[in-house]
Amino acid sequence: VEYFTDDKQKLDLYLDWTKKAKNIVITSHQNPDGDAFGSALGLWNYLKQFDIEKVTFISPTDYADFIAWMPGVPAIVVYDNKNKALANELIAEADLIFCTDFSSGSRMKDMKDAVLNSFSKKIIIDHHEQPESFGDLLYWNEHASSTCELIYQMIVKLGHESMIDLDVATCLYTGLLTDTGSFKYPATTPEVHNIAGKLLAKGVVPSSINRSLFDQNDFEKLQFLGYVLSKKMTYLPEYRVCYTSISEKELKKYNSKNGDTEGIVNYGLSIAGSVMSAIFIEKEGLIKISFRSVHDFSVADLARDYFEGGGHKNAAGGRSNLSLEETVQKFLTLLPYLKSQLELQPN
Ligand code: 5GP
Ligand code: MN
Repeated sequence: VEYFTDDKQKLDLYLDWTKKAKNIVITSHQNPDGDAFGSALGLWNYLKQFDIEKVTFISPTDYADFIAWMPGVPAIVVYDNKNKALANELIAEADLIFCTDFSSGSRMKDMKDAVLNSFSKKIIIDHHEQPESFGDLLYWNEHASSTCELIYQMIVKLGHESMIDLDVATCLYTGLLTDTGSFKYPATTPEVHNIAGKLLAKGVVPSSINRSLFDQNDFEKLQFLGYVLSKKMTYLPEYRVCYTSISEKELKKYNSKNGDTEGIVNYGLSIAGSVMSAIFIEKEGLIKISFRSVHDFSVADLARDYFEGGGHKNAAGGRSNLSLEETVQKFLTLLPYLKSQLELQPN
């Protein structure tokens, strides 16, 4: 795998592959978020403007309502039982596959083998820590706020700024917005605001994107949030840690939909003095974990070392095959060892 963030020759090679390709597949990570869809669909809407026979975005899993409005969504192929055969064929016959917003094969879930076994060239565009080397070219910067930021820069470096139409801009703005926590996380650099400004100049309406993303809850979802906040969240001031667990039974009882638990983990960080927040969600017999932190406490390390995951210093995820209770217990057992690091962090 070769890195090519600032390499003109590699960028030209990339463009050459793209222009020669007849069948391009774009994919992103399972349980897609705003940056996964923003980067994949941003790229899709951009590549559509080239003379390429087929450009398909295949999502490893279904997607939540909050990103279902994005430009290009109706054309998405979801890698589910219904579409698996078609998707496998597209992947096997692809001459170029883009992987955006992830760099660890396992994040493609059931789609992983099809992509890794394809003879296609593979280009990874990502900003997560410790990328695996499964592609041919890796456009990567772990300091980038979002994969959308990288895609924006890549398009500009290729001299294609004018190909950023309203659809592309809408997608890229979405990833910039969601991965920076609405422009509040430390990755919110002058460059991020610069790019956001450029995208607004393309016609993006921030109030409309914000409302589409964050203010389309159904009432049941808010009631579920109320239940979780009041009954399921625990704060341990001695560790400056907040944790929450949700069972499959509770998800069912509240009729919780795919994506409804997104963002709950952030409430745990809004407590004064809190340094880390964790949420454990039981889904299809597996425990999916999200971690958030502030300052120099690395949840990416924690997720990598103990929960088969990874991510960024302040936002990471992982999983566990133990039961929900056992997983929480395992987490609690780790806290005494993390205490000195947690204590060290400013408020
Ligand atoms: P979330 O908690 O929102 O699912 O994920 C937080 C961050 O960690 C995101 O950037 C996401 O891409 C990354 N992440 C989540 N789960 C995993 C995982 O299992 N492995 C790795 N390497 N990264 C993950
Ligand atoms: Mn991202």
